[in-house]
Amino acid sequence: MSTEAAVTRPALDDQLRQQIAERLAGQFKGDIIGPDHAGYEQARLVWNSMIDKRPGLILRCTSTEDVVAAVNVAREHGLAPAVRCGGHNVAGKAMSDGGLTIDLSGLREVTVDTERKLVHVGGGCLLGDVDAATAPHGMIVPAGIMSETGVAGLALGGGIGWFSRKHGLTCDQFVSLELVLASGEVIEVSADSHPDLFWAVRGGGGNFGIVTRFTFRGYDFGPMMRIGVSLYQPEDAAEALRGYASVVPTLPRTVGWHAALKHDMPDLPFVPPELVGARLVMFISMWLEDAEDPAGAELIERLCDVGQPCVKAMTVMPFAAGVQKVIDEEFADGHRYYTKEAHVADLADEAIDALVDFWKDMPMEGEVEIIGLGGAIGDVPEDAAAFSNRGYLLWLNFAMRWDDPACDGDYIQRTRKIVTDLKPWTGRGIYVNMLNFDEMDRVVEAFGGPEKYAKLGRIKAQYDPENLFRMNYNVPPVPEP
Ligand SMILES: Cc1cc2nc3c(=O)[nH]c(=O)nc-3n(C[C@H](O)[C@H](O)[C@H](O)COP(=O)(O)OP(=O)(O)OC[C@H]3O[C@@H](n4cnc5c(N)ncnc54)[C@H](O)[C@@H]3O)c2cc1C
Repeated sequence: MSTEAAVTRPALDDQLRQQIAERLAGQFKGDIIGPDHAGYEQARLVWNSMIDKRPGLILRCTSTEDVVAAVNVAREHGLAPAVRCGGHNVAGKAMSDGGLTIDLSGLREVTVDTERKLVHVGGGCLLGDVDAATAPHGMIVPAGIMSETGVAGLALGGGIGWFSRKHGLTCDQFVSLELVLASGEVIEVSADSHPDLFWAVRGGGGNFGIVTRFTFRGYDFGPMMRIGVSLYQPEDAAEALRGYASVVPTLPRTVGWHAALKHDMPDLPFVPPELVGARLVMFISMWLEDAEDPAGAELIERLCDVGQPCVKAMTVMPFAAGVQKVIDEEFADGHRYYTKEAHVADLADEAIDALVDFWKDMPMEGEVEIIGLGGAIGDVPEDAAAFSNRGYLLWLNFAMRWDDPACDGDYIQRTRKIVTDLKPWTGRGIYVNMLNFDEMDRVVEAFGGPEKYAKLGRIKAQYDPENLFRMNYNVPPVPEP
């Protein structure tokens, strides 16, 4: 955080704030939020309360014109802006410490073109905004697994979620993007108009400009989804996970199946009162086609029967208003969070034992997630987009939560240790959207290695040669030789 403040020179003091306000007068319709503004304390918060940054100024935009004005003042005053959409980035990349934050939370419009199956999404939307707009038309855009994540951060880094096995990543659904470049120019990026840039924004993060509108390919689905849930006591967890590991490779791409090793089971509709708060493993499966399809019911039932569940339930519920909000409360804004991700190369018995041993003693709240990937994610060749490491079938995420700052050191250390212990079974690379503050040495790896990183750098040199957009997992410009 101090390094960010150091590169965001000059300091954003009262005098500079005044100059910027005068420069923006008459052309910026959003909110100009300095430390004296009544909304400042709220506006500087992000999901992870471990992030405690105090931006010198927040420009909350309401339109593409506002974003252009904000980018122009940033460039003219030598201020590298942080860019905020949903604020879910665990390392707090959305917020500047001492400098300028461009906040897109006023760009929340979603329009659905049911004829052409296109969904236009404002650059500040949350996933829930998209789901709420598409559900009445029986459509979805494949995205994440809860409703409060920002579309922009998630999609520009890839976007893995319930529908990935059937339709691929969120960035695989880009048709075009309205992008405000560092120069202030607004361009529409598509495979035809700017092929290199289109390649780069599919996984390359916010390095190339600020997206003010995404146009996604949408799909017919729902609004109802068939899901199955099974819960396991700690003594049955390892056996259940062995069953999970053996069944996953056999599944069709019409089903998603995830496991969560939960510190404490939340009060969800299928959880009997005596199990609320208990340490349990939960498997959740979802049928990605018609909820009434008998083949779906049969498969979901079979998955619920794996191992020795203490509870199993199958139900049909609304996707947008139900499934997509199941973990919203559990992972709400404002707690201390530390996450670590790894691709799973082999969910071998020894790996399962290590995982279960860790989980049984884990004092921090939250969960260890095993997310089922595969299917359509791997249909896109590795060199067709910036997003990398498409070949893995499973993804491991330690989503750890607590509230007492005194626990930070111990809990972070415990999480790091288990990830290190699991190294023999984890794979290459790391998902760029999950890079934490202590993993900045893995940025090149996250972007697919030196070759892809260099290609991203050459594209960056064309569109942001001064590296204005560097408050992110940065790709510095590499001029053509
Ligand atoms: C509770 C939780 C659940 C999650 N679930 C999933 C999941 O299911 N699938 C998944 O793939 N990931 C998931 N993630 C990870 C998520 O993809 C990243 O945290 C992502 O950064 C979130 O995007 P955001 O817009 O909320 O982030 P922000 O913190 O607002 O921004 C993240 C980065 O994106 C850049 N950015 C934001 N908006 C724009 C824009 N309009 N134009 C250009 N750059 C921009 C920012 O500068 C910043 O570098 C989850 C994270 C959390 C905390």
